[in-house]
Amino acid sequence: MLACDLVVANSWHALDRRTDDRVTRLSGLLRRMSPQRAAQDPTFRNPQGVGRKTHDIATLHPEYPGRPTKGGRLTADVVAAFLGDPDQMVELARAIRAAGSLAQDNPMLPDLDDDTTYAEGRPFERRHLARERDPEVRRRKIAQVRHEVGVVRCEVCSFDFEALYGERGRDFIECHHREPLSVTGPRQTALRDLALLCSNCHRMIHRYRPWLTVAQLVELVGPASP
Ligand SMILES: [Zn+2]
Ligand SMILES: [Zn+2]
Repeated sequence: MLACDLVVANSWHALDRRTDDRVTRLSGLLRRMSPQRAAQDPTFRNPQGVGRKTHDIATLHPEYPGRPTKGGRLTADVVAAFLGDPDQMVELARAIRAAGSLAQDNPMLPDLDDDTTYAEGRPFERRHLARERDPEVRRRKIAQVRHEVGVVRCEVCSFDFEALYGERGRDFIECHHREPLSVTGPRQTALRDLALLCSNCHRMIHRYRPWLTVAQLVELVGPASP
C-alpha cells in the first residue's frame, strides 16, 4: 500500500533503493510499524525488498511496456485500487503513514533512562521491548483480562487508568513480558507470558539491569490495595 503510493508519486516508475532514499525511509517506517516481525527478521521489509516491491508494482501498470512480474494477489489488488481511485488511495496512504509515525513517537514503552542497557544497544533487550509494544498482542491481552477479570489494572499496584481518567484511560495499560527474551529465545508470545502494568511500575522494572521480575516489584511495593 505505502510502496504503491511511492510508485504513484514517482509517476508509476520503480524506485532504485541505491539512488532514492525514499525507499530506505519507507523501509524504516514499515519496520517500525511491525517491531515484532522486524526484530525477528532483519530482512523484513528491508530496502531491497521494498525496492523490489516498487518494481513489481510498476510492472502491473497497464502502460508498463513489458510483462508484469509476479507481485502476488494483494499487490495486484492494491494497484487496481490506486488506478481506480487514486485520490482516495493517496489520502489513505497518507493516513497510514501518519499513524505509523505517531506510533513511533508515542510507543507504549517505557522511555528508558540513558543509563540503561537499552542505550548500550543490547539486541535482545531491544527486541524484548519492541515486542512488548506490539499493538495486536497488547490488544488481545487486554481483551482477555477484561473478559476474565472484568477490570484492567496494574498487576503490581492495581492502578486503574479508567478509574482515574475515565473514558480516556479505558484500555490504556502497558504489556510486559514476564520472561526476558534472553531466557526464552525468540518464540511466539503467549498471552500468559504477559503482565499488564501501569506506566510507572513498568518503567521501574526496566529502569536498570538486572530487570526486576513482576514478583520482585510486588514485593518491593508491598501488597496492593484492592
Ligand atoms: Zn503499577
Ligand atoms: Zn516490560
